Amino acid sequence: MSSLPLCALTIAGSDSGGGAGIQADLKAFAAHGVHGLSAIAALTAQNTRGVTAVHVPPVGFLRAQIDACFDDFHIGAVKLGMLATAEVIHAVADALDTHCPAFVVLDPVMVATSGAKLLADDALDALRTRLLPLASLLTPNIPEAELLLGRRIASAAAAQDALAELRALGAQAVLLKGGHLDDGARVVDRFDDGRAQAEFVHDRLAVAAHGTGCTLASAIAANLCRGLVPAAACEAAVDYVYAALRGGYRPGRGDVVVLDHC
Ligand code: PLP
Repeated sequence: MSSLPLCALTIAGSDSGGGAGIQADLKAFAAHGVHGLSAIAALTAQNTRGVTAVHVPPVGFLRAQIDACFDDFHIGAVKLGMLATAEVIHAVADALDTHCPAFVVLDPVMVATSGAKLLADDALDALRTRLLPLASLLTPNIPEAELLLGRRIASAAAAQDALAELRALGAQAVLLKGGHLDDGARVVDRFDDGRAQAEFVHDRLAVAAHGTGCTLASAIAANLCRGLVPAAACEAAVDYVYAALRGGYRPGRGDVVVLDHC
C-alpha cells in the first residue's frame, strides 16, 4: 500500500445521470491514477434527456468541503466546472486565494449541450474578474469563448485570433476547444500559453456526446498532477477524450453517448 498518492480536487456540479460533472471528473482522475477529491458546488437532477432541476447548496457548506480537502490532502491540481451562481464563484475564488493550489484548470461551464443553463447570466462578470486571474488554464468551447469575449468566433482564423484575447482576460494559458466550429471532418483544439502555441487535431466523431468538456478538464488536471507541462497535459487529455468517446455508450433512453473511462 502506498501512502500520499497524487490528489486532484474537482469543484463542480453533480450529474445524477453519471455522464458529466463530478461523476465524470472522478472517473477521469481514477483512470489517470490520481486520487479524486470533490467539492460539490451544485446538484443537477439530470438524465440522458436533459436537466430537470438544479439545487445550489449554501456556499458555507461548499467552503467546508473545499477546506476539508485542503486541510488533509496534498492537492496537485484543482479542476473547476459548473459553479452555477456569482455567489458560488466568489466563494470558490476566496477559497483558492486562501489555499493557493499549484494548478487551477477552469472549465467555464455555462450551458449544457442539452441547452440547460448551468451558469446564471449575472455570474459572467464574477467569472471574468475573480476566476480567470486564478486560472493556470482556461478550457472554453466556442460558445463559451464567444460569451467571454462578447463577439462571434465563426472560423478557424477567428479561433486562432481569439487565443491571445482570451489569455488577456487573465488565465496563464488557454485551450480553445474547436468542436463547435465547422472544420470539415476534423476537430481542432488550439492551445496558447503565451510562449508556445499548439493544435491538437482529431477526426470528428458523429455522436451526441455528453461530459466531454468535464472529462477533458479533469484529465488535464490529472496530467498536471503527474508532472506534465501544460501543453503536454492538454495533448494527452485530448487523446484520452477521443479514445473514451470512441468507446462511448448510451446509458439511458436519450440519444446521448457518455465516455468510456476504462
Ligand atoms: N451537468 C453538469 C453537472 C456539468 O458539470 C456539465 C459540464 O459541462 C454538464 C452537465 C454539461 O455537459 P455536456 O454539455 O457535455 O452535456
